[in-house]
Amino acid sequence: MKKSTKKTLLSLLLALTLTVSLTACGSGKDGDGNTIKIAYLPITHSLAVLEEAKELEQQTGLKVEPVKYGSWPELLDALNSGNVDGASVLIELAMKSKQEGIGIKAVALGHRDGNVIVVSNDINTAADLKGKTFAIPHRQSSHNILLNDALATAGLTIDDVNVTELAPTEMPSALASGQINGYCVAEPFGAMGVSLGAGKVLFSSEELWENSLCCGLVLTDKFINDRPDDAKYFVEQYKQAGNALDKEKAKEIAKEYLNQSDEVLDTSLQWISYNDLDITEDTYNTLVEKVKSYGLSDNPPDYNDFVKNF
Ligand code: ZN
Repeated sequence: MKKSTKKTLLSLLLALTLTVSLTACGSGKDGDGNTIKIAYLPITHSLAVLEEAKELEQQTGLKVEPVKYGSWPELLDALNSGNVDGASVLIELAMKSKQEGIGIKAVALGHRDGNVIVVSNDINTAADLKGKTFAIPHRQSSHNILLNDALATAGLTIDDVNVTELAPTEMPSALASGQINGYCVAEPFGAMGVSLGAGKVLFSSEELWENSLCCGLVLTDKFINDRPDDAKYFVEQYKQAGNALDKEKAKEIAKEYLNQSDEVLDTSLQWISYNDLDITEDTYNTLVEKVKSYGLSDNPPDYNDFVKNF
């Protein structure tokens, strides 16, 4: 092969590689710029964004494309690398990303309340948890905070229990088999443990922490800066979708996306609501105090740096 031909082939190859990688890494938006990609996990805590996607489907213009992930770490990778425009995510995980320099803003709550502490049938009070094994999905979660709050009602701390991190889907069977004595995790996995007969509800989130926060809807700074009008419209529509999400509608959406039985969903959806999803400074500051006092983080982001109200 002649040197010049070789050179041409090489540059062609290089150009091709560049095109492929540019297309592949994308910015989270599709070719026509009308779609917003939002990462979610198949849990009841993400139903507001799924409801919004459904509502906007009927209209022309902006579309929401829900992108499903199997675990929080996978979802965070997508969010932190800009492969999606936003996510419905545990707010503590988003705070940690923000703290680590990722350009994101929390623009609304994912839901209100909606968590329970599930324990095996032989446990009747928080004091009974002493020396027992308790599962949470992630250290950076309201489930960790709720466990700390529950223990505090009996004068105990996190050092009095064995805390283990488990995948949400494994928790109901781990409780049934006696591998763990209790857990707290995004729904409907608490309801699943109850409906299996593996355990019972010891506390609901509102009994431990009034106006508790859990998941947040976050958007990347890039998306907010590149498409400010779309971002504003998206957040407005999201809050409206949340306000419209009554138990019946929530169940309809959950059945479509979550693949759970009626019994599990009926139990789970009693505990959660989606109306009024603004993140107020007061509720955020309570979260910040808990994050600091329970040792999740020493330096969580300030309200004004992290929360954006449209
Ligand atoms: Zn949540």
